[in-house]
Amino acid sequence: MGSQSDLGIESLVGEILAGARVSGAAEVAAWQKPEKDLRRLVRRDYVRNLRRNLSYRALQALLEAVDEVLPRLNREPIGMMPVAKQAEVASHLRVHFKAAPHTGNEGLALRGFYVNKMQKVLKRPLIYVNTAHHPLAVSVTFCHEVGHHFATDIFQPQEQSVHLFFDADYSDHLSDPAELAADVLVSLAGYPEPVARRIFAKPWNWGLVARAGNLTDAAFSEIRTHLKEVYGLDLTAGIPPRQSLNYLCGMIHYAKLRWALLAEYDL
Ligand SMILES: [Zn+2]
Repeated sequence: MGSQSDLGIESLVGEILAGARVSGAAEVAAWQKPEKDLRRLVRRDYVRNLRRNLSYRALQALLEAVDEVLPRLNREPIGMMPVAKQAEVASHLRVHFKAAPHTGNEGLALRGFYVNKMQKVLKRPLIYVNTAHHPLAVSVTFCHEVGHHFATDIFQPQEQSVHLFFDADYSDHLSDPAELAADVLVSLAGYPEPVARRIFAKPWNWGLVARAGNLTDAAFSEIRTHLKEVYGLDLTAGIPPRQSLNYLCGMIHYAKLRWALLAEYDL
């Protein structure tokens, strides 16, 4: 890859990041008040949204495609990927990859983005991850963007699109098939089937998921233990409060989505 192409990518990343401050104003504002998003997520019915926006067929197509890079997906937890490993995967997928910090309140609201191939500007898709975040969050962002990459093949969007990933935006992902598909990959990576069955497939859970899809205290405590054991994640240790509340939104979102996958598709 020549330096001219690198410069082109650099300037495109810069343009998208600058644009995100404007187009993502609502998400940045939401990121400042994560409590609101948290309450909304806790109440959302994930099963109904999953059924409506991601068919079993689309899901199967996604899993078959992903098998090439993550053959152990849904069998064991996919470990945290350091940036060097992410670069390797991106290169294998023939995707441009940019990992750099984007800081400040507005910058931190953004986790990353995925741009599908632009005929004139980009010969290959582009993934950006914001490395100002906790390393596990960066790894999750990468997984989400890789999900977009495979979802693009399945949904074949007619238009050029930039998928921005904001921390506070999880509720909106539920009604967008592309975002939902990208998130499914994260949920399966974090909670393979044996873990999901242990945490979620309990009699006291099934009735609840049918109604509101609410997490019980017992399930939530198992989720925290799982994330601590497998990924060493402790939201109370050394992460600034607002950021940790936003991560908590993500934690609840991916857990509820995993639960819905089990309940709706027995996966
Ligand atoms: Zn996305």
